[in-house]
Amino acid sequence: MGKRRPAGKRRSALPLILAAAAVLAIALIAIFLPRYLRKKPEDALDAVFFDVGQGDAILLSFPEGEFALIDAGSRDDAELLVEELACRGVRRLSFAAVTHPHEDHAGGMEAVLRAIPADKVYLSDGENDAGYYIDLLEWLEKSGTPCGVPGNGEVVYEKAGCRVTAVYNGEGAENLNDSSLIFRAVYGETSLLLTGDAEIPEETRLLALGGEIASDLLKLGHHGSQSSTGEAFLDAVKPRYAVISCGRNNDYGHPHREVLDRLERRGISLSRTDREGTVLFRSDGRAWTKP
Ligand SMILES: [Zn+2]
Repeated sequence: MGKRRPAGKRRSALPLILAAAAVLAIALIAIFLPRYLRKKPEDALDAVFFDVGQGDAILLSFPEGEFALIDAGSRDDAELLVEELACRGVRRLSFAAVTHPHEDHAGGMEAVLRAIPADKVYLSDGENDAGYYIDLLEWLEKSGTPCGVPGNGEVVYEKAGCRVTAVYNGEGAENLNDSSLIFRAVYGETSLLLTGDAEIPEETRLLALGGEIASDLLKLGHHGSQSSTGEAFLDAVKPRYAVISCGRNNDYGHPHREVLDRLERRGISLSRTDREGTVLFRSDGRAWTKP
């Protein structure tokens, strides 16, 4: 007959096992609960302002699982952006847009479209013979992707209660920033205005068009430069929330103090990719929230 192990030793392992199980459970909850809470409900519109340093890349994630990409950051960051899009389940784009042909908006678009095809690509009529832009135009032609300049007020997406309009195509610009395509998305009672790098002269031309531009969420033009987001424009858009997409400690000093003052005076709540990283706004059709 074997020697019995003292009963006390068997019991002493139990608290350790329970403690380990509790630690494991807490770790799993900590990892998966935030992801679950951030998961987009099917009937929501998400606007994702990616942190692409000094540049713009904005994903619209529509109700019913369709997507659009407005700008794609610079060429150097394109691989990371493609990974980000893949992680968010983006396999195809209902449309993509390059607001204007500067590198910090257009540079990453060829790589994105090679990985994730778009049904249609919108371009401004601004011209640029830089290599990244010529490569993009050549690839669009080679791949047979439909592309072109939208008309002012052209509806570029409409489905499941969500409508995106190219409110202005930047025609008549004297520089590339001012040739930026400007888009407005509306979902229920919520709206969003994306202005590329439009500066005050383009804002003035847009105001003269007289279309609907009031929006409760505004992506500020030209990374928060004082040459954009004029007083008259802000008073017409009347945003409640604003987003600035710019790089940490960028060489241009964006966003400029003057612009921050204009927002503060109007009590507009500001989000910045240089401080927060990628910024997410979600609309349920009634209000924007930051989940
Ligand atoms: Zn820019």
